[in-house]
Amino acid sequence: MKNTNFLYLFVSAIFLLSCNSKESKIITVSGEIPAGEIGKTLHHEHILVDFIGADSTGYHRWKKEEVVEKVLPYLLEIKKLGYKTIVECTPAYLGRDPELLKMLVEKSGLQIITNTGYYSAVGAKYIPEHGFTETAEQLAERWIEEAKNGIEGTGVYPGFIKIAVERASLEEINRKVVEAACITHKATGLTIMSHTGLAVPAFQELEILKNYGVHPSAFIWTHAHNERDLSKPIEAAQMGAWIGYDNFTPEKLDRFVNFALQMKKEGLLHKLLFSHDAGWYRPGEPGGGNFRGYTEIEEYLIPALEKNGLSQQDIYQIFTLNPVEAFKIQVRPVQS
Ligand SMILES: [Zn+2]
Repeated sequence: MKNTNFLYLFVSAIFLLSCNSKESKIITVSGEIPAGEIGKTLHHEHILVDFIGADSTGYHRWKKEEVVEKVLPYLLEIKKLGYKTIVECTPAYLGRDPELLKMLVEKSGLQIITNTGYYSAVGAKYIPEHGFTETAEQLAERWIEEAKNGIEGTGVYPGFIKIAVERASLEEINRKVVEAACITHKATGLTIMSHTGLAVPAFQELEILKNYGVHPSAFIWTHAHNERDLSKPIEAAQMGAWIGYDNFTPEKLDRFVNFALQMKKEGLLHKLLFSHDAGWYRPGEPGGGNFRGYTEIEEYLIPALEKNGLSQQDIYQIFTLNPVEAFKIQVRPVQS
């Protein structure tokens, strides 16, 4: 008995030592990488989005080769500009396609990160049947299964949890996906990225995280640029949450620059993420419809940030260091 106890303690000690010394990881479509290898990153973009609804979508809706032909030039364009990674934020039942992402990674040389989770905004149109009947625990079980064994036998693993909630306030189905995301986070260390928009649902979500003992630093408030009361995202960032200003277009230049300056003034630049929320191939439209490229941040936003006093180090913080911290695999419990 004594020997068994000793052995158990010895094995536990070795395990803890190896955890402490192990470098942080990020999970891309091609597998685990040291978190520091994420490089310059666009943290919220799309390759393909299928808006037909959870009841009708499926891989029959697009031809992978045609999507590759359309999208590849846009990926090569940002690779040339020095970007190393894009985070693909299309969840299951809205056009997530791991095999397609694998093809694009191979052809472009870019790193792509995909996700697990469900999109419960827009009247839950993108929630599959079982999403309405199953509990948060059961949904989390499905997402944890993807994180542990890969998505649909493709050998591709999710690198974060993507969910979405209604714009005005959380409804029952929204609460359930946020709860499922918390359970999944605690089991996997995957970060929760939630399509949110305004402050009311954002703080409702942070309250649910708190109830589950999950720290705000496990949460990306996606589409925070829609909240015009800047004190709200600043308050969330002070709590530790990530603030995603992620739908950059040249028309929003002043809004984005102003927010970056505010965050810098508050000492919160280390909580800010910028992206385009661009793309995407649209199944059902001729040639996949109008594709929006991923270069406007480089063309307009970064020069304007520099002009307004942000340093090279600040830019490096936003586009490289922050994605490392936001997407590294780590369970983030509420500190007691
Ligand atoms: Zn998006």
